[in-house]
Amino acid sequence: VSDSARTPGGRPAEAGQHGFWKEYRNIFGLLDALNLPEDPLTDYAEQGQWSPRGLEGTWPVYSSLPSLPTGPGQALFTKFLNLNPLDLLSALPLVLAFSDFDETVPGAWEAYDDVSFRDLCARLGVRRRVYEEIFEPMVLTGLFAPGSECSAGAALGMAYFFVLRHQDSFDVRWCRGNVGDRIFRPWVEQMEERGVSFLSSVRAETFELNPERDRIVGVAARKGADAPLIEFRPDEVVFAVGGGALANMVRANPGTLGTLPEFRRFANLRGTSVLATRLYFDRPLATPYSANACWGFDAGVGMTWFDLSRLHDGADWGEDVGAVIEIDYYHADVLLVLDDAAVADKAREDLATMLGAEVRAARLVDAAVVRLPKAVNWYYPGSRRDMPDVQSAALKNVRFAGDIVKTDHGSWSQEKAFVTGAEA
Ligand SMILES: Cc1cc2nc3c(=O)[nH]c(=O)nc-3n(C[C@H](O)[C@H](O)[C@H](O)COP(=O)(O)OP(=O)(O)OC[C@H]3O[C@@H](n4cnc5c(N)ncnc54)[C@H](O)[C@@H]3O)c2cc1C
Repeated sequence: VSDSARTPGGRPAEAGQHGFWKEYRNIFGLLDALNLPEDPLTDYAEQGQWSPRGLEGTWPVYSSLPSLPTGPGQALFTKFLNLNPLDLLSALPLVLAFSDFDETVPGAWEAYDDVSFRDLCARLGVRRRVYEEIFEPMVLTGLFAPGSECSAGAALGMAYFFVLRHQDSFDVRWCRGNVGDRIFRPWVEQMEERGVSFLSSVRAETFELNPERDRIVGVAARKGADAPLIEFRPDEVVFAVGGGALANMVRANPGTLGTLPEFRRFANLRGTSVLATRLYFDRPLATPYSANACWGFDAGVGMTWFDLSRLHDGADWGEDVGAVIEIDYYHADVLLVLDDAAVADKAREDLATMLGAEVRAARLVDAAVVRLPKAVNWYYPGSRRDMPDVQSAALKNVRFAGDIVKTDHGSWSQEKAFVTGAEA
């Protein structure tokens, strides 16, 4: 989350925007405990959904509306401007499957894991238009891959947690600045005061097992390819990395981790690619909603955009900057191959398609392009059996943390990374 990048003009950028949904109770508890000088998160606000045709729908602040049972509440209050009631009705069997799905029940996720989300929707009779305009964009932005390449179990679990657990589960707050500055830095400083040492940008490379092959007794790491090895004799090891990194570690250690069937499974894990852009314009732009999701711009690519001039209130962007818009693309390999100038042009043109001439008239002062190839966990059909548990079965002093870990907590994304970290 906090790995930061810079624009050609030296302005900071991050690897995408990170929302904190109403269900992130453990992270909200952490933020309270950090006792920060000011609340790092925005209030809840209405969100927009767009296509190249214009505004397609709005998500209200559900907690500000009359309280209804979960499911009917979201159905009644969410506005899809261009879908007719018969189309929407075809989603009912799927919504019932979502509402009935509780991934904390053992076997619930596994029962749907080998089926793709797209196939499940087709089987349940969801009309093509409803799939393409509601559910495909939901998985492209929630699981970072198209429904045909996502486990239905993962999609049901994700949707239950973010949308259906309570009427107001989808209410979301955003960081009022970069997450690295507002949350991670003060948190790290407080831990350092309590004696924790962090070695940033140091990659773990090789692992040594004891003769019984049931503990890791040595780890060698390096800060940069040509730097000397740093060696550790650890008591406990927590792998807090994504699926792609875990797979690489197993591949790079065939004589140790690769000898263990539990770890060989991880070689199947892989990541999907994300492209984060931040556009700095020379004048203010009028944006109806500060956080937005989109569909229909590039086949198989998810998209969100944010008005950072509104979310990062009080930020000093520089005198020549009037508006800062972040546009992020998910499952974006087809865009990652463009050069930075072409990416910035494309992002600006997409924004202009939604907001009109005002964007075309504005001058682009600076732009950040952050590429994250294969960096986000991919919940492909059948992936559940390849995911690690919190406690390693083979290695007694090894645990796993992160959003790729199997847990009965039922949370997702940053909340799950935090919760599994606490469990580990
Ligand atoms: C563009 C984008 C938007 C997102 N939006 C949201 C959102 O709105 N809300 C939300 O909750 N979540 C969001 N997420 C997901 C969220 O970022 C992840 O759920 C979360 O970061 C997972 O945390 P993690 O600790 O499992 O893995 P990561 O955050 O990926 O951390 C793993 C770390 O391991 C490090 N690492 C890799 N290899 C090694 C090695 N060999 N040695 C040492 N370290 C290594 C990596 O550098 C990385 O820092 C988004 C992600 C992206 C990319």
